[in-house]
Amino acid sequence: MIDIHSRIESINNRISSASEKSGRKPQSVNLTVISKRVSVENISAAIKAGVTLFGENFVQEAKTKINTISNKNISWHMTGHLQKNKASTAVRLFDLIHTLDTETLAEKLNGEAKKIKKIQQVLIQVNLSQEETKSGIREDDLLPFLNSLSTFKNIKVNGLMTMPPFFSNPEEGRTYFKALRLLRDKAESFGYSLPELSMGMSNDFEVAIQEGATYVRIGTAIFGERTGK
Ligand SMILES: *Cc1c(COP(=O)(O)O)cnc(C)c1O
Repeated sequence: MIDIHSRIESINNRISSASEKSGRKPQSVNLTVISKRVSVENISAAIKAGVTLFGENFVQEAKTKINTISNKNISWHMTGHLQKNKASTAVRLFDLIHTLDTETLAEKLNGEAKKIKKIQQVLIQVNLSQEETKSGIREDDLLPFLNSLSTFKNIKVNGLMTMPPFFSNPEEGRTYFKALRLLRDKAESFGYSLPELSMGMSNDFEVAIQEGATYVRIGTAIFGERTGK
């Protein structure tokens, strides 16, 4: 059996030292434990170890687990690609959606959030590597996209998210993390406020922290390799 408690402790220590090394406060980096395809038992073990924030990738799976765990102190984020027809469930489950990437999805989220009198917090997913298979807007589309969202009063854009290609050497992800930060800085110079950067996974979160990540999304390093699906 894997010792989830000690793995979480070790990740938290690595987050602290990466933050301190880059002159940042460790509290400025939020560990989002990615629990897709992870059992309720293992999620509960992580909660016992002090985790209060989880990221899920599939709405139906998340709904089942969130209802089973039924713990008001836990915050759930959507970190996977979100389909329009799941928007209604998503706004009821998630405190933050990391993956907004189309105006039609924004419109749907806005409408659903309005129905339940919620301001839905979102991040915009940016596809910096321009890989066809990945979701996310193109870098050049960020400013017009932000502008088009300003009419939606029930969604609040808090920042940006990206997922670089997988590299076995984490240093190779740095250019993407840096590019996301610079893109954010550019948007802020146009008056938008985008404090949050969701970037960095098991393999490269320390590099992402050095480049300004405020949410790191870590699954495998805590729960081990995912099986199935
Ligand atoms: C699965 C997933 C992660 C976690 O990746 P690990 O390599 O298991 O840490 C992070 N972000 C997203 C969007 C994911 O889909």
